[in-house]
Amino acid sequence: MPMITNLTSEFMPLHYVFCNYSILVVDSDNFGLPSDEVVKKCFEHQVVIDWFGEPEFRYTAIALEDDCPAPSGCKWVPIRSLFEKGNSGNEQIICAARAHSLLKWRKKKRYCPKCGTLMIDDKYETARFCPKCQDKLYPQVTPAMIVLVEKGDEILLARHTVRNNDVYTCLAGFIEPGESAEQAVVREIREEVGIEVQNIRYVTSQAWPFPDQLMIAFKADFKCGEIVPKEDEIEEAKWFTRDNLPPIPKEGSVAWSLITGEL
Ligand SMILES: [Zn+2]
Repeated sequence: MPMITNLTSEFMPLHYVFCNYSILVVDSDNFGLPSDEVVKKCFEHQVVIDWFGEPEFRYTAIALEDDCPAPSGCKWVPIRSLFEKGNSGNEQIICAARAHSLLKWRKKKRYCPKCGTLMIDDKYETARFCPKCQDKLYPQVTPAMIVLVEKGDEILLARHTVRNNDVYTCLAGFIEPGESAEQAVVREIREEVGIEVQNIRYVTSQAWPFPDQLMIAFKADFKCGEIVPKEDEIEEAKWFTRDNLPPIPKEGSVAWSLITGEL
């Protein structure tokens, strides 16, 4: 999977500054980015733990140490919030998501998994390179599926026991080795709520860089079975009509678009 750009230690005009899963902005409504001055201060105060530039996209990505307070005039906003209100097609936001994923990837791939040598950025493409065993590691994308199960005008939504347990959402899960996305749909639905589906249709996909998922969205029709929520994972799963929806995930997520019928 060679990528067309390679990472550089040159500074670019756009500054994406991150702390964990937040990004630094001066103006969250218009996605105003911090100035050169702010970034210079971050370096002076030695709170930068990693950074790189991507000339093709004109940005420098900068990771600050955990719990770093926002420099004056700036504020941290969750990266997820950038995806709200249908922003996910915005080019700058796509780049910010890319920058964030690449920073997380670099953090995970500091050392060669074969020999433990400190890895460096590859000269020619977006990859990490081991100077000892000459191996390259490319950025990773983790495929996951999300599915809206339909039964007439009803849709199946579930509330999880731990993660985001204040909302009802579509079933979702990672695609396992050897599986097609459609096979993962069948398996996850069977495992999580004990029902069978048919007529599985691909709807769309969405990058979900927390840190590196690609959500592949489907719809499927109910075939048979009784709902039996998986213990320890699903608190409750029920059929809803769209005129009587419970609390659901925020706008901007593919789940929101599936549930509201936008897709
Ligand atoms: Zn190595």
